[in-house]
Amino acid sequence: MPIHICSTCGTSYPDSPEPPAHCRICEDERQFVPASGQAWTTPEKLASGRVNAWRLLETDLFEIHTQPQFAIGQRALLLRTAQGNILWDCIALLDDATEALIRGLGGLSAIAISHPHYYTCMQDWARRFDCPVHLHAADSEWIMRPDPALRQWHGETLEIVQGVTLLRLGGHFPGGTVLHWAAGAEERGAILSGDILQVAADLNRVAFLWSYPNMMPLSAATVRRIADTMAAWKFDRIYGAFPGRQVTSGGARAVEQSAGRFIELLKSYQA
Ligand SMILES: [Zn+2]
Ligand SMILES: [Zn+2]
Repeated sequence: MPIHICSTCGTSYPDSPEPPAHCRICEDERQFVPASGQAWTTPEKLASGRVNAWRLLETDLFEIHTQPQFAIGQRALLLRTAQGNILWDCIALLDDATEALIRGLGGLSAIAISHPHYYTCMQDWARRFDCPVHLHAADSEWIMRPDPALRQWHGETLEIVQGVTLLRLGGHFPGGTVLHWAAGAEERGAILSGDILQVAADLNRVAFLWSYPNMMPLSAATVRRIADTMAAWKFDRIYGAFPGRQVTSGGARAVEQSAGRFIELLKSYQA
């Protein structure tokens, strides 16, 4: 029996003769069911029509992106460290070429994921590379395929290897997490941000939303708390969820200025 993958969000559901009736992730107000209705695919079908493209973003950081684009269209990032490779965020397609290339780079020591929209086929990646997946426990209700490899962490920070720390920011999801890489950006520090700080079309701005496809804001208090949390960390570069979306330098200033403008707009309502 195949596992089933939602064609809109990429979330995988347990193997069963027929696909589930619903995708809970897409029926949540932060996502959407397309007008054409709920659709499903399988790993085999996905691999037959698509490939993963690789790009070196800076020393020790690769982007892996499925082409033609699938579901939400996010990239996964492969971060190399002296203590092993870490996959940041996940994508549904794990084909033989991707597996062989990652094995050639030394395999994976851990997977960490920003929020449930990118859980995708994390269980299959974890089994293939025999590594744990770090998820924030505040989002456990969105795990659709329980697996022994999934490790739920609690609290505000988790250092997974030296110089690589998960920071819980919340916002888009209560357990929304970014990854701080101290050695990134030539030792100035980098943030891998997923959708939690969303790098905007103006590459000197980030956005803080409850729902991106449905364009729903967070509260001013939440935006302030996120910016204050980030202010305690040293970083200069931000890698967002999508290809081409990175704040190359001045990342800390971009977060603070973007948050200030968001709060100004959110508070500007006049009755
Ligand atoms: Zn879905
Ligand atoms: Zn999201």
